[in-house]
Amino acid sequence: MKKLCLGIESTAHTFSVGILDFDGDIYSLINDIYIPEEGGLHPGLVREQHLTNFMGAIENALNEAKISIKNINLIAFSQSPGLGPVLKIGAWVARMLSQILEIPIVGVNHCVAHIEIGRKMCNLTDPLSLYVSGGNTIVSAFESERYQIFGETLDLAIGNMIDTFARDAGLQHPGGPKIEKLARKSNNYIPLPYIVKGMDLSYSGLYTAARYLLESEDFSKKYNLNDVAFSLQETAFGMLSEVTERALAHTEKKEVLLTGGVAANKRLQQMIEYISKEHDAKFAVVPLKYAGDNGAMIGWTGILRYKTEGGHNISETIIKPKERMDQITIPWRL
Ligand code: AMP
Ligand code: MG
Repeated sequence: MKKLCLGIESTAHTFSVGILDFDGDIYSLINDIYIPEEGGLHPGLVREQHLTNFMGAIENALNEAKISIKNINLIAFSQSPGLGPVLKIGAWVARMLSQILEIPIVGVNHCVAHIEIGRKMCNLTDPLSLYVSGGNTIVSAFESERYQIFGETLDLAIGNMIDTFARDAGLQHPGGPKIEKLARKSNNYIPLPYIVKGMDLSYSGLYTAARYLLESEDFSKKYNLNDVAFSLQETAFGMLSEVTERALAHTEKKEVLLTGGVAANKRLQQMIEYISKEHDAKFAVVPLKYAGDNGAMIGWTGILRYKTEGGHNISETIIKPKERMDQITIPWRL
């Protein structure tokens, strides 16, 4: 039997367990996702759900892979960045399994894991990556031993911004797919704040202006929700395209990777594919099952690190809620 890794994702809404072999073939993936009844993610409530459900997720992943926990050779977990109380659950479960089973443990940076599973699944060597999700908005590429950050949001993450706007418009979480559907029904562009500062983006002004449009007395007279959804997407994704294109021109990478939950958006895919073509770069979107938060990406990145540097000592497995991906070197790419 091949060597197997069990990867645990626990940075935010998703507690996920993936089982894969050391060549990266995935045997199972189970996601348990916290969906807020109202408002955003409350760390205490997310933590509560993960604490209640983690054992079931592990058991289901083992059953789906048709193996016993004794067949696992390595435990990987999301160590950074994320919500502290939620990261702690994954770290605690991983340490416990590692110690009971007497197998090595590896802590993984969640953002690096999104890129590594993308490189693997899309057969890319050295892409410029656009990682867009509920909690992150990052343009990055490998340079000088690290995944350097070329551009990022200064305030709200793109997914969070769209979800919050959608909630204001009376749509249920997650709002991203619903806004995409409405936006398809309009091509009436209403000017909204387009804020790119250097290589970074700011979404709070755009969000506030879009919300004002909903509250304005012109709403449903001069324009409707489809028009606001369309204008919001065009503006937000235009900003992402500008920063991604500038990073592409600077780094001269020949591949572009789109990942994170917002990568599902067809209009965003279209825009990023367009700029990739303009720069003769191959464009790829991570298959959606692996574009959102998942344990398989954590497992795969854990395997990469374990093969080059071995496991972590327990004292090195402390969670790092604020760690940026450009703070760590990537030994398997040196
Ligand atoms: P993640 O944080 O990676 O799990 O991704 C979740 C985020 O992706 C949420 O903010 C969703 O609203 C967003 N999302 C999912 N599908 C779409 C879509 N088709 N268009 C825009 N955003 C989306
Ligand atoms: Mg993520």
